[in-house]
Amino acid sequence: MSETKLVVLGAAGRMGRTLVSVIQETEGARLHAALEHSGSPALGDDAGTLAGAGHLGVTITDDVNTALDGADGIIDFTVPVASTGFAALAAKRGLVHVIGTTGFSAEDEADIAAAAKSARIVKSGNMSLGVNLLAGLVEKAARALGPDAFDIEILEMHHRHKVDAPSGTALLLGEAAAKGRNVKLADNSVRVRDGHTGPREAGAIGFATLRGGSVVGDHSVILAGEGERIELSHLAADRAIFARGAVRGALWAKDQAPGLYSMRDVLGLAD
Ligand code: NAP
Repeated sequence: MSETKLVVLGAAGRMGRTLVSVIQETEGARLHAALEHSGSPALGDDAGTLAGAGHLGVTITDDVNTALDGADGIIDFTVPVASTGFAALAAKRGLVHVIGTTGFSAEDEADIAAAAKSARIVKSGNMSLGVNLLAGLVEKAARALGPDAFDIEILEMHHRHKVDAPSGTALLLGEAAAKGRNVKLADNSVRVRDGHTGPREAGAIGFATLRGGSVVGDHSVILAGEGERIELSHLAADRAIFARGAVRGALWAKDQAPGLYSMRDVLGLAD
């Protein structure tokens, strides 16, 4: 079987460096190129050395065309503006594009869906097996309990550098809860509370955000009823879980038709 040649976008970032190491360890995957934006202080560095994976002979570059020539796919944990631009490039070249970036606007999401007519895009706010399994459990619990007897609140904590809130994972879990209740998350979510808010609205799906230290990602979905409470939690201890999921997604997508896929598709957890 030939190796899948992958380009890491944002190769100097926290997830980018983890991806370089994980690709290196994954049978059937090869680091084809490592990209950063023009002006990045990491340009010219060896991607492997920067990742602590040893010298790989792959220099971090901002030359997009050369990096994508001969590649099978792009793995991208960067910022929304970069991810939407690369989705269009992946569409033009018919490439796999694994998007782990979070914080997209509705317009960005529409651009990515349009690119997926020609590119094989795998996109998820969380690429770990555990969280995708949790999403399935949340959907089931929300369906079983209904909106009247149990309120749903989603609590998340991440490291101090995270720039978007609620996290992509919290939103993914919110979507799962909304799907279980057969409602739209956008019509029912309460993303912040401050001041005299009045009582909780029936059917709301609430979010609460904590930031601090080096926390990789903690999420709890709380189903609170009269006199009892269920808490479903996932604690991420190591960024490698997201990188392993992303690489698995890229290898899986290589054999799929163009389209927009989730990690639940990749992991075979979608119904
Ligand atoms: P980070 O350390 O800031 O890494 C992002 C990297 O992308 C940085 O090196 C940044 O460079 C670079 N970059 C920015 N614009 C670029 C462009 N146009 N072209 C190429 N590179 C560009 O952030 P992180 O912690 O790795 O997280 C990145 C994203 O992944 C966030 O949205 C985060 O929420 C998400 N995430 C998702 C999952 C998941 O499972 N889906 C898991 C973890 C994180 P500069 O720093 O020089 O700007």
